[in-house]
Amino acid sequence: MKTSVVGFPRIGALRELKFASEKYFRKEISLQELESCAGDLRARHITEQSSAGIDFIPCNDFSFYDGMLDTAVLVNAVPARYRKLNLPPLDTYFAMARGYQGEAGDVRALAMKKWFNTNYHYIVPEIDDDTEIKLAGTKPFDEFEEAKNILEKAGGNGCAKPVLTGPFTFLKLARFTGGKNAADFAEDVASVFTAVVSRLEKAGAQWIQFDEPALVFDLTAADKELFCTIYRKLLAARGVSKILLQTYFGDIRDCFGEVCSLGFDGIGLDFVEGKKSLELVEGCPSFPSGTVLFAGLVNGKNIWRNDYQKTVDIMEKLCKKTDNIAVSTSCSLLHVPYTLENEKKMKDEYKKYFAFAAEKLRELADLRDICQSDNPRQQESYVSNRKLFETVRPGLDEAVRKRCASVRQEDFTRLPEFAVREKIQKQRFNLPLLPTTTIGSFPQTSDVKANRSAFRKGEITENQYISFNRKKIADCIAFQEKTGLDVLVHGEYERNDMVEYFGECLDGYIFTERAWVQSYGTRCVKPPVVWGDVSRAKPMTVSWSQYAKSLTDKPVKGMLTGPVTILNWSFPREDIALKDCAMQIALAIRDEVLDLEAAGISVIQIDEAALREKLPLRKSDWEEDYLSWAIPAFRLVHSGVKPETQIHTHMCYSEFTDIIPAIDNMDADVITFEASRSDLQILDALKANNFKTEVGPGVYDIHSPRVPSVEEIAAALRKMLDKIPSGKLWVNPDCGLKTRGTPETEASLANLVAAARIVREELK
Ligand code: GLN
Ligand code: ZN
Repeated sequence: MKTSVVGFPRIGALRELKFASEKYFRKEISLQELESCAGDLRARHITEQSSAGIDFIPCNDFSFYDGMLDTAVLVNAVPARYRKLNLPPLDTYFAMARGYQGEAGDVRALAMKKWFNTNYHYIVPEIDDDTEIKLAGTKPFDEFEEAKNILEKAGGNGCAKPVLTGPFTFLKLARFTGGKNAADFAEDVASVFTAVVSRLEKAGAQWIQFDEPALVFDLTAADKELFCTIYRKLLAARGVSKILLQTYFGDIRDCFGEVCSLGFDGIGLDFVEGKKSLELVEGCPSFPSGTVLFAGLVNGKNIWRNDYQKTVDIMEKLCKKTDNIAVSTSCSLLHVPYTLENEKKMKDEYKKYFAFAAEKLRELADLRDICQSDNPRQQESYVSNRKLFETVRPGLDEAVRKRCASVRQEDFTRLPEFAVREKIQKQRFNLPLLPTTTIGSFPQTSDVKANRSAFRKGEITENQYISFNRKKIADCIAFQEKTGLDVLVHGEYERNDMVEYFGECLDGYIFTERAWVQSYGTRCVKPPVVWGDVSRAKPMTVSWSQYAKSLTDKPVKGMLTGPVTILNWSFPREDIALKDCAMQIALAIRDEVLDLEAAGISVIQIDEAALREKLPLRKSDWEEDYLSWAIPAFRLVHSGVKPETQIHTHMCYSEFTDIIPAIDNMDADVITFEASRSDLQILDALKANNFKTEVGPGVYDIHSPRVPSVEEIAAALRKMLDKIPSGKLWVNPDCGLKTRGTPETEASLANLVAAARIVREELK
């Protein structure tokens, strides 16, 4: 039995690649220095996997920005506007990833999207009718050569396994800007990959891995045809190298038969997220003989230790079907932090429950040794793992459990119904038509960050910290009043991050020092960890909101993050159902909502920025596995407020056209969302679904420092009014203003208010 890793984190244990790249962007280091940092990291990662006893060690899983982008460049899908800049290759690559503004020209970046159900973002390749697909690079060959040499020199365990984004997934995720579609390019893309395989073969690759996560979506007949056409061609041209079809993030129930019959040398299945993976293998008459089953059993997305008993149980079942098994990670380890060794402050009693990427390598080796032994369940590593799982895991809280159990059906429904509340609230607030507001945060300027960091380091007192933020709040309120906004915010100066802030305030969460996970490009996040049952010890935001309210007669929104977003951006505990954890967080946030209301806050916004992120990849799972608890969790948060209290929510990704009824069913009074980059398509969908909730589609893009003109915003509003009744339309930016500078924020908001006033006049 062998061990395999699907992919390894590439940014470096201490985010070395991030810092080097950012220095390169600022022209502080040369290309050579950047490449040498990257080379060191690759060498370190390969050596580490080899010494941990991994047999199939991924290479070409490295990227300067993103693997999809690497693939686009490899197949020559570089849009003309980037070529025209005439930059050196790596700079052209970065121009596609990040946009370019300089002597050579001015182009925006390619689009970026969430990678399946993760918080990693990939660059969306763009293909037009004139794109000439051909092999246009040597990255996989160079990195294979390099990996082979490293392993030869070290004389250690394992072979280098080049990893490629599969052609099917590449075509499914690419954007076609002309009249042609994926099928029109299938032939050409297959040829490129055939050439890649034959060149890797000549270089001595024993195994080549094709990542095809797109196979876990619902597949149409045309999808299957596309997949089969490409791989028939590819497999027919294969020589001595073995081809591993690697799938992850779910099961491949729609094409398992095809996959088995095509003749792959290895098939990688995800037994962690793939609900039906085991059933598929057990149910097939016979697993293709000679094909290695790469069993993805070590979770590549979460940081808890593997339960060896469960894993060995599955292995034993699989062994009944085939004796040709490699134990593998469930997906790339890109989605977990590097190593526990850098967690100096975390107590051992916590640490023993976790396995980050480096520790997962050891688990793979353990599992291989256990399964190969005559008495698997007597192996020392098995026995000690058993002990860990047999002891009652700390962190459970009877009171929290009791409270959750006592939630009644009616607690999920706010009364009276929306239409009645809408009237009551219109009377209470007496806002003008097209009321103006913002999403919450104001610029987190360096003084705001410095104040927080000084407080954390103990350099200033709590009082000093608070007074600084109060001064900020006062300025923020004064600015909003002067500018003429209708519903004000306090500015969120006390928050580093919309999830980490609440995680730090809630009981049941723990924190890491260096558990960074790549989010996109050079950006990383440090998700908090759900250690046990979650509850709220004391009010978390009330004093800030109350202070802001004391400074103005206008309504000030209380600002909270919703339970689904808090959960989706944390590492959840694996032995507590997500649904239960969401309910616990919901009850904690509910208490905060009621405290805000009691403190006189009349408008409360509960952000669900990440609601769409964990929507299952298969439509048939949406309701049962997700919406059936995610929407109730949100409803539980606000169902206790009075009719005259106005509940807002905010969502970041506008691709929710397909779940509009679910969003209406959140039963908020107002929803604001990101819309300015999506051509307002969503408005048609809102209209078609008879959306009842009042809406604030963002009128300008806050991801850019550009100041929108009054006329531009007014035009956007007029367009919105074609689809949305004037009594339901709010005016606001796309998202929070945290990452923006002060001058552009003030100018943009002044224009926003001016535009609202003009259009209001027109409505009279
Ligand atoms: N209220 C948050 C803010 O304004 C929302 C952020 C978000 O949606 N990502 O920063
Ligand atoms: Zn947002």
